[in-house]
Amino acid sequence: MPLELKQPIFGPAGFPLEGPSGPKAMSFLASKGLFAMEYQAVRSVRISKKVAKELKAAAEESGVTLSIHGPYAINLSSEQKSKIRASKSRLLKTAVIGNLMGAFHVTFHPGYYGKRTKKETFEVQLASLKDVLEMLNQKGLKVELGPETTGKESQFGSLDELLELSSKLPEITVTVDFAHIHVREEKSKIKGEDDYRRLLDKLEKILGKEKMDSLLVHFTEVEPTSKGSGERKHHPLGSGYGPDFKPLAKIIAENGYKFVIISESPILEKDSIKMKEIYIKFSNKAYSPTVK
Ligand SMILES: [Zn+2]
Repeated sequence: MPLELKQPIFGPAGFPLEGPSGPKAMSFLASKGLFAMEYQAVRSVRISKKVAKELKAAAEESGVTLSIHGPYAINLSSEQKSKIRASKSRLLKTAVIGNLMGAFHVTFHPGYYGKRTKKETFEVQLASLKDVLEMLNQKGLKVELGPETTGKESQFGSLDELLELSSKLPEITVTVDFAHIHVREEKSKIKGEDDYRRLLDKLEKILGKEKMDSLLVHFTEVEPTSKGSGERKHHPLGSGYGPDFKPLAKIIAENGYKFVIISESPILEKDSIKMKEIYIKFSNKAYSPTVK
């Protein structure tokens, strides 16, 4: 379901830290010029149907676009069939509740290589996702699935792997976590504008315009582990750890991308506001992202 946005929108991963939780958070975020939020179901999908529907109504009223982050305990390429089955059902449950709250997109971490080769893992992931899509179809649900680029070399989910999944399954898009890309491998480190440009050109080429127009992005500055792969800690913008948001904002403004940009910084919505302000400086236009 393509979003109708005129400019990128910004918002936190989870309810605001310095504002209300639940449906009341929606008008609070909109009052700060933040029109996105990713609901966190990362431990398990615990929200009731009633609250999900209330969130949907409040989000619509305030013009906030919701997405949902599924449980961490998902491994669609486990060596154990029972774990794959449980993972598929967790992902399905996330999509069902996401649909009730009006979320346009389901973010999830796809899983691990384990003892499998990269090629085998890809095939198992592909088969698992096909099953989930079929189950979604049977329920008549239209929520976009976006496996997230992962931050550890042991996790399936390099940008190239996810783009290949998406070209095999048109219903699948990619959730782009720039911090994860930054710490995944030495060669994937984002050093500046050229690296962003290379990544975004590749995304646009393979995803196509429609998926690119509502691309879901996670952003935070991140401290890598000493081992060179994986994240040790998220940091607020300006911490000195990479990646730098400014060159990304510049390219977004220049190319007219309408991304949904979710802050995973430790100060969540405060950094969403900062990202929005950085973007506005590059865009040179009044900020009015939603079509009303
Ligand atoms: Zn993320």
